[in-house]
Amino acid sequence: MPLIGFGLWKIPQSETASSVVEAVRAGYRHFDSAADYANEVQTGEGLTHAMSDGLVSRDDVWVTSKLWNTFHAPEHVEEACRKSLADLQLEYLDLYLIHFPIALEYVPIETRYPPEWLHDPDAETPVMKPAQVPLHETWAAMEALVDKGLVKNIGVCNYNSALLHDLMTYAKIRPAMLQIEAHPYLTQDKLIRCARGYGIDVTAFSPLGAQSYFELGMADEGESLLKAAPVMVAAEAHGKTPAQVLLRWGVQRGTAIIPKTSKPERMRENLAIEDFELSQVEMAAISALNQNRRFNDPGVFTEAAFNTFHPIYD
Ligand code: NAP
Repeated sequence: MPLIGFGLWKIPQSETASSVVEAVRAGYRHFDSAADYANEVQTGEGLTHAMSDGLVSRDDVWVTSKLWNTFHAPEHVEEACRKSLADLQLEYLDLYLIHFPIALEYVPIETRYPPEWLHDPDAETPVMKPAQVPLHETWAAMEALVDKGLVKNIGVCNYNSALLHDLMTYAKIRPAMLQIEAHPYLTQDKLIRCARGYGIDVTAFSPLGAQSYFELGMADEGESLLKAAPVMVAAEAHGKTPAQVLLRWGVQRGTAIIPKTSKPERMRENLAIEDFELSQVEMAAISALNQNRRFNDPGVFTEAAFNTFHPIYD
C-alpha cells in the first residue's frame, strides 16, 4: 500500500470526482474512501475518468473502503461491500475496514444511504440504535469477502489494544491494517506497538490533528499542530511547511498517512515529503507534544450530535 494516501472524508460530492482526478495527476495512488463519506459514487467517477484517460490502471491504485456500523450483522456485510464496489465502479477493493467497533441497527439501502448514525433522523428525538452483533461475527463475514475475491485485504479502524487481542484469538485471516487517529497530540505509541506485535500495519487518520475538526466545532483554533513550536522549528530548519513536517513525522515513525485536502496545491504539498528527513532530536521533540488529545471520540460526539452516549475507548 502506498504510504501516503488521499483521504476523502468531507470532500463535497460536487468536488469529489475532480479532486480524485486532480489527486491522481498530483501522484496519489492510494485513496481512502468509506460508505459513510457519502461520496463513493463521485469517487468512482473520478477513478473511472482517471483510468479511461490512461492516467492510471486499476493495478496502479490502492482503494480502501469501510463497512458502516449499520451493516455489521453477517447477513449485511456482503451487501454493504457490493454497494461500495458498485458506487466506486470497482470489481474489488484493495482493503476493506470495519469503520468502528460499533454495531447499529440495520437500515435498508433503499431507506437511506449512507445511513449515518441516527436510526430515524425524522423521529421527534432522533437517537442511535445499537445492535447486538458480536464483532467476531462481523469479522467472519469480512473474511468471507476475501474468500469471494471481493476484497484483497481486511482490517479494522478505531480498535484499541483489548479489541485487537480479542480479534487475534479468532481471526482466520490476519487483519492487514489498523486505521486509527494518530498525530503528535495523540501518538498512540502502545497501540501501534501492540498492532505491530501482531504483524498488523498502521494507518494514521487525521494526521494533521485538529485541522479536520475546526469546521465541525470539535477543536479550538489554539489546538492547531501547525503552530506547535517543535513543528514550526523543524519546518523552518528544512524549508518545509508545518503540514509537511507533521506528515513526515507520521511516515518516519512507520505509519501510513491519508491526508485530505480539497486544494490542488495542498495535494502536491502533502505528497512532497520524501526529500527530507527529521532528525532523531526533531522526532523526539514533536512526539513529546503528546497529550492523548483525541479529536474523533465517539464518547464525546455520539452524545453531542446524536443524543446517545456511546463511548468506546474509556
Ligand atoms: P487531515 O487530513 O489530518 O486534515 C484535513 C484538514 O486539514 C482539512 O481541513 C484540510 O483543509 C486541511 N489541510 C490539508 N492539507 C493541509 C496543508 N498542507 N496545510 C494546511 N491545512 C491542510 O484530517 P482528516 O480528513 O480527518 O483525516 C484524513 C483522512 O483519514 C480522512 O479524509 C479519511 O479518509 C480518514 N479518516 C478515517 C477515520 C476513521 O474513523 N477510520 C476518521 C477520520 C478520518 P482543505 O481541504 O481546505 O485543504
